Amino acid sequence: MLHIIRDSLRARIFTGIGIMLLPLLGLAAGALLGINSVIGTFNDAVEEVREEIEPILTLQIAILRAAKPANDYVAHGESAERDRFARLSERVDHLFKRLEAASFALAEKRALVGSARETWGQAQSIGERLLALPQPVGNSAAASEMKRLDAQFARAAVLLERVDELDDAEIERGFANATATGRTVLQIVLGVFGLGVALVVSVGAALAWSILSRVKALSDGVRAFGDGNFSYRVQLEGHDELGRLASVFNTMAAELDKAHEALRETSIRDSLTGLYNRREFDRRLLDELKRCIRYRHPLSLLMLDLDHFKAINDDYGHPVGDKVLSEVAGIVKHEVRNSDEVVARYGGEEFVVILAETDKFGAGVLAQRVRAAIAAHIFSIDETRALNVTVSIGLAGFPNDANTGETLIAAADHALYDAKRAGRNCVCSFDPEQHMENHQ
Ligand code: GH3
Ligand code: MG
Ligand code: MG
Repeated sequence: MLHIIRDSLRARIFTGIGIMLLPLLGLAAGALLGINSVIGTFNDAVEEVREEIEPILTLQIAILRAAKPANDYVAHGESAERDRFARLSERVDHLFKRLEAASFALAEKRALVGSARETWGQAQSIGERLLALPQPVGNSAAASEMKRLDAQFARAAVLLERVDELDDAEIERGFANATATGRTVLQIVLGVFGLGVALVVSVGAALAWSILSRVKALSDGVRAFGDGNFSYRVQLEGHDELGRLASVFNTMAAELDKAHEALRETSIRDSLTGLYNRREFDRRLLDELKRCIRYRHPLSLLMLDLDHFKAINDDYGHPVGDKVLSEVAGIVKHEVRNSDEVVARYGGEEFVVILAETDKFGAGVLAQRVRAAIAAHIFSIDETRALNVTVSIGLAGFPNDANTGETLIAAADHALYDAKRAGRNCVCSFDPEQHMENHQ
């Protein structure tokens, strides 16, 4: 599972969204359970109220109704009131029995109901005695019994009232419980919501970072590539879609880097000899001169021209001329071994060598070595024919002979001309004094 998430952007996004949805589901479930629990607590409280208050109210009403026949009997003396009293008394007895059979949460309530029943019992006996009197109307004894009876009824009612009050307190407690449960549920829901928000923010941030950081690495690569930095490679771990894109990008970059390098090489090299071309020579000469000016180092320039080369072309043909040129280039390159030194083809059968940090003396030694190596070389034309080639070399030095690229080339060219005049196959060094004389 983990490797699927690591290797797939799509799986990562879906998993991230899934995780972000989890708290929402949790919240919904929590809220549902919480609401159910609050409703349950309220229902329990209401049910308790109904179960406990209803029989007491009924009993209170029944006691009050039982008082009426006694009162009526004292007022009117009708014997029918005795039956009514007996019926109503029976009902009150019955209701007391039912109430006592019910379970009470509080012992206090049971005791109160017991006292109420006792009081009712006394009231009942007073009532029975009262109703047994033959002449109640205007009878002072009946009136005083009636007073006692009312007082007992009132006492029973007060006792039951107190049960009611206890019930009220219990109801209050029930509602307080429900409110507390509601508050706890609210706290839980808020807590889950807070956790959910934290989870969404952290998972969202992790998801965004895991994608955006990789997209940034890729866009950095594209920008670097656009700026011409072909050696730049995108560093992306993993095999997800972006990782694969980075790998394709890197392969493409490597290919382009190679092609670009090959193109660059072609643009600075001469195709026949493989030496640097004239443009690259000009650029390098300026660079080397700048460096030598800054550090006050000497620099020398050799200019080589093949002797009577036209005759070789004429006698053996252009392809042989080309082969000779190529071999001469190889010999010069071989003799000028130092990698700092630049060998270039300056024109048709002319070559140049930049000798950085070399004075004219050192340059003269090297020039003689090159000249001798070419003169000693046997250029084979085919299996039976071979020929010798010589070069004339002009040499000029910075800063004594010239101090710009252009004047240094002109000085070396001048020295080369001197070498030709001197009979060829020789090295001539530029002589500033002679040059001055010639120009006077
Ligand atoms: P010298 O320099 O000794 O005075 O005599 P030269 O015969 O070498 O004189 P010049 O410099 O006039 O002739 C150069 C010849 O080089 C002319 C041209 O045909 C030949 N050449 C120039 N470039 C090439 C090339 O790329 N291939 C071949 N085969 N010949 C070339
Ligand atoms: Mg020439
Ligand atoms: Mg020549």
